[in-house]
Amino acid sequence: MTRIVVVGAGQAGASLVAKLRSLGFAGTITLIGEEPVPPYQRPPLSKKYLLGEMEEERLYLRPAQFYVDNDIALRLETRVTAIDAARRIVTAGGEEIPYDQLVLATGGRARALPSSVAGHRDGIHLVRTLADVDRMAPEFTAGRRALVLGGGYIGLEAAAVAALRGLEVTLLSANGRILRRVASEATADYFRTLHQRHGVNIREGVGIAELLGTQRVTGAILTDGSRVEADFLVAGIGLDAATELALSAGLTLDNGIAVDDFGRTSDPAIWAAGDCASFPLAGVRIRLESVQNAIDQAERVAENMLGAAKPYVPVPWFWSDQYDVKLQIAGLSSGHDQVLVRGAGETAQSHWYWRRGQFIAVDAMNDARGYMVGKRLLEAGRNPDPAVIADPSADLKALLR
Ligand SMILES: Cc1cc2nc3c(=O)[nH]c(=O)nc-3n(C[C@H](O)[C@H](O)[C@H](O)COP(=O)(O)OP(=O)(O)OC[C@H]3O[C@@H](n4cnc5c(N)ncnc54)[C@H](O)[C@@H]3O)c2cc1C
Repeated sequence: MTRIVVVGAGQAGASLVAKLRSLGFAGTITLIGEEPVPPYQRPPLSKKYLLGEMEEERLYLRPAQFYVDNDIALRLETRVTAIDAARRIVTAGGEEIPYDQLVLATGGRARALPSSVAGHRDGIHLVRTLADVDRMAPEFTAGRRALVLGGGYIGLEAAAVAALRGLEVTLLSANGRILRRVASEATADYFRTLHQRHGVNIREGVGIAELLGTQRVTGAILTDGSRVEADFLVAGIGLDAATELALSAGLTLDNGIAVDDFGRTSDPAIWAAGDCASFPLAGVRIRLESVQNAIDQAERVAENMLGAAKPYVPVPWFWSDQYDVKLQIAGLSSGHDQVLVRGAGETAQSHWYWRRGQFIAVDAMNDARGYMVGKRLLEAGRNPDPAVIADPSADLKALLR
């Protein structure tokens, strides 16, 4: 009987094993994860869960019984430490589990502050796992001072929760403007204004020179020489793809575990999906950190493991919730040379991007229609007329006809 082993019981791993069973795969499936809880969704960790508006059980992607009912051996609190040449994985406890096909869905690890900066101080938090957020949540009480390092989505979402809970918040975006790596200037301007309206002190191009406090962080001296007092620090400074198993197995790495169009690594018996995997798309190799990618790539890999030979060619989409604004993004705006703002000055607005005359992405803030139309145009490979987008009285849905 064919044996499939999946390392990493996160969004991608859980989606993949469910898809294998729904496709009728009758062999054995083992899903191994190092965290103590069943696979769960991470997005609420920096949103509703941190706000205290969501119970832990609602984070779980499926009830534990699902894995029993579907004959999926779910092994929690089990770290895989090696893949050996005889097609076996080895756990930290020394157990060897053989496979015919292996999937690496190992995600990534939140980047930590260099130890030369962090020292051994308490009160420094990363935001990746449920355990991280359970540790951090008690810090979020009204009147306290939060220092957030990182102007990406995780930093901004943590800042939004802190501001909503009545904390005094300073956010540092050390490498320049907020959202520099992931969104356009227009979208960054929108979110900067939104946060400032909620009292967040956003400092762009300023980082931490030195942390204050001996046992516990009490503030920081910043790279411009100024000083911020803080009761705790949240670091949202990026993710390192978890590639160590792939590296030790001699697989090709390239900004993550390199896979081909079908999700296969440089070893034909090993596949990868989700945050850990980089894949070819439109002539470049990319790695996406999103729920959409974790699910869609994992499901495509499941199909291909069973012989479908279908390439993975997504229209990426992503969302973020900050205060009462829902951001929805379809496509990738990097490299755009034209942007049109629809609804400028309003809370509901959308930003439309073109590169060399081709429509490539839309960022929609509280504009579900703009997002839906933009996404469908991208999926159909269609190019909307910029004049229609720019005309606030034009019916966007007409673009779909
Ligand atoms: C706070 C937060 C908010 C987010 N918000 C959004 C959002 O709004 N929208 C969006 O689209 N995306 C969001 N994301 C990103 C999204 O959650 C990830 O892209 C997604 O979880 C990736 O799934 P994955 O399965 O690839 O990786 P993960 O979810 O990281 O799962 C990988 C699992 O593998 C385990 N593992 C790794 N190595 C080993 C090993 N050697 N042995 C055993 N187990 C191992 C890890 O412990 C982990 O449980 C957010 C992420 C975070 C952290």
